[in-house]
Amino acid sequence: MRIPCPICGARSYEEYTYQGDATVVRPNPETTDPAPWHAYVYLRDDPKGPHRELWHHTAGCRAWIVVERDTVTHAVHSSTLARSEGGRQA
Ligand SMILES: [Zn+2]
Repeated sequence: MRIPCPICGARSYEEYTYQGDATVVRPNPETTDPAPWHAYVYLRDDPKGPHRELWHHTAGCRAWIVVERDTVTHAVHSSTLARSEGGRQA
């Protein structure tokens, strides 16, 4: 599988480190209800098909990127720098 880094171009997945689900949204820091924090830390979907993932170009430019990838075919549809997406909170 080749992953297109927005800075370096297409590189082998072996240069990257998978860092998890990019769709997870951090709860409001002032939230004291433990349920949203439990979901944020521990609960993940296991999607079949298109998915947004966070990858680190560990052996390259060390950028964090969001990759849209099909988990069945491993086809990569897009990649963007994670910092360009900004922080997300519920
Ligand atoms: Zn790179």
